[in-house]
Formats: sequence, C-alpha cells, structure tokens
Amino acid sequence: MSAPGTPESPLRVAVIGAGPAGFYATEHILKHEGTTAEVDLFDRLPTPYGLVRGGVAPDHPKIKSVIRVYEKTAAREGFRFFGNVKVGRDISVEDLERHYHAIVYSFGSETDRQLGISGEDLPGSHAATAFVGWYNAHPDYAELEFDLSCERAVVVGNGNVATDVARMLALTEEELRETDTADHAIEALVDSNVREILILGRRGPAQAAFTNPEVRELGEMQDANVIVDPAEIELDPLSRAFLESDQADITTRKNVEILTEFSQRRPEGKRKRIVLRFLISPVEIRGEGRCQSVVIGRNELVERDGALRAQDTGEREEIECGLVLRSVGYTGIPIEGIPFDERRGTILNQGGRVLDSHDAGHRLGHYTAGWIKRGPSGVIGTNKKDAQETVDNLIADVGSGHLLEPESPDPAAVESLLLEREVQFVSFPAWQAIDRAEVSRGEPHGRPRVKFCSIDEMLEAARDADPVAG
Ligand code: NAP
Repeated sequence: MSAPGTPESPLRVAVIGAGPAGFYATEHILKHEGTTAEVDLFDRLPTPYGLVRGGVAPDHPKIKSVIRVYEKTAAREGFRFFGNVKVGRDISVEDLERHYHAIVYSFGSETDRQLGISGEDLPGSHAATAFVGWYNAHPDYAELEFDLSCERAVVVGNGNVATDVARMLALTEEELRETDTADHAIEALVDSNVREILILGRRGPAQAAFTNPEVRELGEMQDANVIVDPAEIELDPLSRAFLESDQADITTRKNVEILTEFSQRRPEGKRKRIVLRFLISPVEIRGEGRCQSVVIGRNELVERDGALRAQDTGEREEIECGLVLRSVGYTGIPIEGIPFDERRGTILNQGGRVLDSHDAGHRLGHYTAGWIKRGPSGVIGTNKKDAQETVDNLIADVGSGHLLEPESPDPAAVESLLLEREVQFVSFPAWQAIDRAEVSRGEPHGRPRVKFCSIDEMLEAARDADPVAG
C-alpha cells in the first residue's frame, strides 16, 4: 500500500478535543505542503474552542479573538467538525483506528488538582475550575450553586486562574453586564456580599505563577483596592539571591516589582478589597455543615531538589470565610486504553508520539498535543508550537509508513457509524448556527453573546439550521 497523503489517498486524521491544541494540530496538518489530508475534529461538547470558550474570563474578550484564527482552519478543505461526540461513549478508540491513519488526542486537562486537606469537600469549598465553568456557562457546571452571601472569599493559588476568579468576584455590575458571563452567574455575582477576596500563595512573590498583565490588572479594578502587606512582600534571602541571579526571568522580576508597588499603595475607598498574602498554605477548612473558616499555616522557603519549596513553620492562624476557591492547577483524565502517566496527569508520550509504556516504543498512529501531552502550562499560543512538534513527528511517520491502516478510510463511513448509533453530532455549519443564535441573544443588551447553558438548548439551535446533522 502506498503512503497516504496524496489526492487519491488522503491522510485521514481524527483530532480529539477542539480546543486551541486541537485547532493548531489540525491547522498544521491541513496546511502541510505536499500532503493531502482530511481532519475530523471531535469534541464532546456541541461547541468548539475548549478553554477559549469555557475558560478564558468573560472580561478578557480580546483573548477570545484568537477564535478568528481557528475559523480560518475550519474553512480549509478537508476539515470537518464533529461536536457532541464523546470518545469512549459515542465512538471508541478501536472505531477510530478502523477509520483513520492517525489519531491526535488534544482533550486538555479536564479536572482540578486537590489540596489534600481536611474539610476540602465541605459545601462552600470548590475547585476554581468549577467556578470558571459556572460563570462561563459550561454545561457541566451551569447547574452548580455558589453561595456568595459571605464577606470573605479565599482563593488558593498564585496562577492566572486565581487572578481570573478573583477579578470575577470583584467586577462591578456594569462591568459584568457587558460581558458574556452566564446570566445565572451575573445575577449571583451582582447580589454577592463578598467584599474581600484573599489570594493565598504557598510560596513568595518571586515564585508566583502569575503573568505580568494579569497581576497588574488586580491593581486596576474599578471598585476594588489591591492590598499587599509590605512585610509579606519582603524577600527572604533565597528569593533575593534567585532574583539577583541570571536564573530569574523577566516575568518574575516584573511580578515582584508590581507586587512591591501594590504594597506601597494606600486604599482608595473602593467597595471591595483584593488582598494578596504569601508564604501561606491552607491546612484545614472548618465549618458546621459548610465552610466557615480556613486554618492557614505560615511557610518558609527551603531549597530542595534544586528548587525553592514551601515548608510549614507550624505557625497557625484561623480566618473566617464562607467561600474557598482552590485554584492549584488542572490535571488530565485518562481515556480508556490510552497509556497514561498518572503522576503528571498526561498521556504517556515522547514529542507527542504516544508511548505504550515508559520503556516501550511508539503506539503507531497515536499522537497527543496540548495540555494532555505536556501538562496544564503556558498560554493559548504555547499550544501552537506544541502542536507543531506533534505534527512534525506525525508527518515524519507518514514518510516512514508508521501509521494505522484503516479498514474504512471513506469519510462517509464515520458519519454513517454515528448516525447508526443515533449520535446527534454537530457539524461546523451547525455550530455556526448555535454561534449566530447566541450572538443575536446578546445584541439587544450590547453583549458579545448570551451563551446557551445546556446541551439540549445548543442542539435545538443547531437543528434549526441543519435538521440533518444537528
Ligand atoms: P498554574 O499557573 O500552574 O498555578 C497554580 C498555582 O497553584 C501555583 O501558584 C502553585 O504554586 C499553586 N499550588 C499548587 N499546588 C498547591 C498546593 N497544594 N497548595 C497551595 N498552592 C498550590 O495554574 P493555573 O492558574 O490553573 O493556570 C493554568 C495555566 O493556564 C497556566 O499556564 C496559566 O498561565 C494559564 N492561564 C492563562 C491565563 C491568561 O493568560 N490570562 C488565564 C488563566 C490561565 P507553586 O508554584 O508553589 O506550585
């Protein structure tokens, strides 16, 4: 059999997960010179764009404009979208192996990491990822309820998700009402009693994972002062030596500068406060039937295994709070039959080639890109380079004939299989109908869109435009 990739025998690839990594992988494959390819991009939701739709904070609409780039990919010849199709439920990995030369897993890190402390599961203590999904109208989280009747909320973690949730809790009604925040979240946030948002970093300002624009924004809120105690920002000798060395990058130096400037500010009489504290870890969440306080422990930094790590000093403090958002990172969920690195929460791979086990070779035809390949790090654009590496390896394997040999490479066969199974898949034109419906719901209110919160509503909007595929 001749290698696929010619007009007579196109390279057929299934990409699983239509977030940034999935779109970049698709783009790299479809634009590869000298290869004729067809890419079917699957997503378990009827809507594409992954965290660009369901993660990026609603008050950051500019970040979402990257969607225009993905729309160009979707307009390429050889592209098809299969929304509302979950691998493992509607179609199996074995089914995909029968229809494609290669499969690229790019379904991201779907769940939150745990703190592992007592009281973590009390009502009122939530993963920040759930709060993010809730305010972004993600159908998995839209039904959740967040009790915002307390005065103080604690956000654990010093990453950009922590800044996102802190800002969302601090936005004014006017600011919220011009965004595509889910309606249920706008109403709850407008009625919120939260006046103080306390962000806890287990290490110091020089170890924070924030990027500069995100931390700077905390000091530019319309109705919230940013508060940093000068004593908390004082650098310990290890951090100082690190900052003075050439190991410290420009982001870290700038973060420390911005946070130091915050510590010199006087509160401006705004209604809310965003307080940043460092070298603090929650050690227990307490409450009768729901979260009422958090016991925090003071840390010191110690050098271990070549890194500066937080070590408990034993000093404790109890602070009242009715809402805890644990923002300590995401982790991946395995997909049945695909080798998984439990420690890293990623698919076992080398350069995007899925490995059978740590010391075994490449599982032919299986690839991965994005967070489920490298872990939940970097910004949206990081996935472009990441996907390029995967696709370079995939294309090299086309050349050497190391691919799957599908029994039914005919594109119509996948559609028939899904129709046979009565899967209501959403094509790209059907998604565009959902998109138009959401945008027109937003227009009378001057909002970018009003999102549908349930899969049923999305499918109904898709059916209106495309009664067959919707
Ligand atoms: P992240 O950047 O990895 O930050 C996780 C934070 O949690 C770190 O400060 C980490 O501290 C802390 N942490 C981990 N385990 C902890 C524990 N047991 N107790 C206390 N703190 C703990 O993760 P993220 O905020 O979820 O963001 C994920 C990725 O998305 C990042 O690359 C981020 O930049 C990106 N993102 C970007 C934007 C944007 O560009 N606007 C917005 C949102 C997210 P240590 O450093 O001590 O481990």
